[in-house]
Amino acid sequence: MSKKLEGKIAFVTGGSRGIGAAIAKRLAAEGAKVAITYAKGADAAASVVKTIQDAGGKAIAIAADSTTPGAVEAAIKKTVATFGGLDVLVNNSGTAIPKKFEETTLEELDRVIDINIRGTFMSTQAALKHMNNGGRIISIGSCVGERMMTPGLVSYAATKGAIKMFTQGLAREVGDRSITVNNIQPGPIDTDLNPAAGEWAVPQKALTALNRYGSVDDIAALVAFVAGPESSYITGASLTIDGGTNA
Ligand code: NDP
Repeated sequence: MSKKLEGKIAFVTGGSRGIGAAIAKRLAAEGAKVAITYAKGADAAASVVKTIQDAGGKAIAIAADSTTPGAVEAAIKKTVATFGGLDVLVNNSGTAIPKKFEETTLEELDRVIDINIRGTFMSTQAALKHMNNGGRIISIGSCVGERMMTPGLVSYAATKGAIKMFTQGLAREVGDRSITVNNIQPGPIDTDLNPAAGEWAVPQKALTALNRYGSVDDIAALVAFVAGPESSYITGASLTIDGGTNA
């Protein structure tokens, strides 16, 4: 049986660890050729590539800080030159600086906006220059982009709310190329950014209906579905996968 992403080429920002690494591995397992970017973790990125290659897939890792103008554009050009096109962009790189809003510095606000919003804008513009008709733009937002139950994530939630409306707006501009634009909104997922064992985990876990954190593979499975052929009528959507946090 042919794999559902056979012949497709995917580009995942921030694919060296956490949710992005799981997405890269899953898209490759479904048959896509995958490029990942990273900012600092060259070894971690190389190990994701090796895991994919050992399983018979094709992958490359490219150093490209999502906040540096031109960096992701160059990485996308390299991906197109290496694999021959682009079908799926996953805007995954992102960060949070949990802190009371009044105590958050301008530098910290800029950092969160830079990675989460400006980075997504830049990579999407770069990707659209090369993306094949029928392509997929998938951004990793957050369940807090829609509903907020805890203090300390004001700027982060604001950037993820921006991703929701970015998704809706852009869906209206690229539909004539049959490109879909969607926003995946995870709840608490066990990663370096949000460890299930940390102090911040207690209230987050309690807010879920399932009383537990989700795994990176839960998110990767939904991304693979949205990247695949069965989701071609889903666009402009925010798909929440949060263990019932927003229920
Ligand atoms: P992690 O911090 O665990 O991993 C982040 C990944 O992004 C790493 O591969 C890192 O690579 C890369 N990265 C960070 N900054 C940059 C940058 N400036 N340029 C390029 N790559 C970068 O995060 P998660 O996996 O937890 O989060 C991934 C996404 O999911 C984020 O957008 C986050 O907001 C979102 N999310 C996460 C949730 C969670 O509970 N974990 C919940 C809801 C949303 P390197 O080490 O090389 O810098």
